[in-house]
Amino acid sequence: MSFKSLGLSEALLKAISKKGYTTPSPIQAKAIPPVLLGVDVLASAQTGTGKTAGFTLPLLHLLSQRPAERHRPVRALILTPTRELAAQVYANVREYSEFLDIRSTVIFGGVNQKPQVSTLRQGVDVLVATPGRLLDLHNQGLLSLKHVEIFVLDEADRMLDMGFLRDIERVMKIMPAKRQNLMFSATFSKDIKKLANGILNHPAQVEA
Ligand code: AMP
Repeated sequence: MSFKSLGLSEALLKAISKKGYTTPSPIQAKAIPPVLLGVDVLASAQTGTGKTAGFTLPLLHLLSQRPAERHRPVRALILTPTRELAAQVYANVREYSEFLDIRSTVIFGGVNQKPQVSTLRQGVDVLVATPGRLLDLHNQGLLSLKHVEIFVLDEADRMLDMGFLRDIERVMKIMPAKRQNLMFSATFSKDIKKLANGILNHPAQVEA
């Protein structure tokens, strides 16, 4: 199994080899093909399995192959429970998109919103965010999710543990109904399954 055989573009393969990865991890080998097909995916994966690349690489592939609008609305939203994770996922998005014409940024609470707002204003394709700041900026009319094509819910179990269920539901309401959804979780409680049922449409299920 190679990254090339998964169907990723040359620009992504270049970024992957720059990172020093030679072989896809099990979760990457299983998650990347269905994401590239455009279907919803429910993935069971712990941190440390390479799950971030498992959704980031195919997401970047899909976006870079589709025509973007000039004003660059948010086309992919990656929601994470904590600012540390948001920063980490964003660092990955940056590295993997080095050879693509894709803009990305990260927003989270606890810091001044001004720099985040001015970056958003320039237009971004991929937005990594924590729920609170995302909704806050949306409520202020500083951000629109009306053009989101791909929604990723990372570490869904931690999201629920941290009490973000209502926020997740609010975010879903401000995105278009027609979109691709990817959900990653380390554990699968009854609540997680219920959340998955509410978000995902006939998902492909993969496990690391
Ligand atoms: P994650 O589970 O996404 O937090 O990734 C865990 C670590 O594995 C990170 O340091 C990644 O850079 C690294 N990693 C991800 N995919 C691969 C791969 N295919 N080969 C080697 N290392 C990887």
